[in-house]
Amino acid sequence: MKPYKEIISPKALLVNDVQNDFCPGGSLAVSACTEIIAPLNRYIKLFSSNGFVVFVSRDWHPKKTKHFKAFGGKWPAHCVQQTKGAKFYPGLKLGKNVFLLSKGMDPGKDSYSAFDAFDANGRSFLKILNKLRVKELYLGGLATDYCIKQTAIDAINNNFKVYLLIDAIRGINPFDSEMAVKSVMSKGAKLAIFEETKENLKSFKRSVSK
Ligand SMILES: [Zn+2]
Repeated sequence: MKPYKEIISPKALLVNDVQNDFCPGGSLAVSACTEIIAPLNRYIKLFSSNGFVVFVSRDWHPKKTKHFKAFGGKWPAHCVQQTKGAKFYPGLKLGKNVFLLSKGMDPGKDSYSAFDAFDANGRSFLKILNKLRVKELYLGGLATDYCIKQTAIDAINNNFKVYLLIDAIRGINPFDSEMAVKSVMSKGAKLAIFEETKENLKSFKRSVSK
């Protein structure tokens, strides 16, 4: 991969929180998590092989946070820093060139959105997106009714075009997930599946190489 400052990527993929605690066997498992691993791997390969950046976010909580039930929050403990539950799900093939983002480190906040995430150098997701001149964000991963929803809303509010990759997102509650998809679509997000995304990326490349 080129040095960070030389990359321009008008389109970018974000793989949201596909970690052990959100998958079968984890403390906050989305039961359908395994259905999206193969599609996500295809998307990661598609974006990176066409020269577009891939972001991978992780929930990365301290042991004590008001996000957890034990400290006044909504959720059982999950994705605690340096634990097995916080590791990416083993079937996910991230490759070497992904941008890693972490969120949820502030014990006073829920931080559902990837726009609350930072890279290892403390750069915010928004700052990186602007630096790479990203205009369109393609969202995959977990969970549709929380982190995907909030990330999509923040992306739209920051003037990005948003695609929800419906063959590569899953939620905690199916009804809430459907509502979340409707809600972000009403704000301007579009739905996409693999084949049309592939065509979209290729036709974009053809248009810029003319
Ligand atoms: Zn969390």
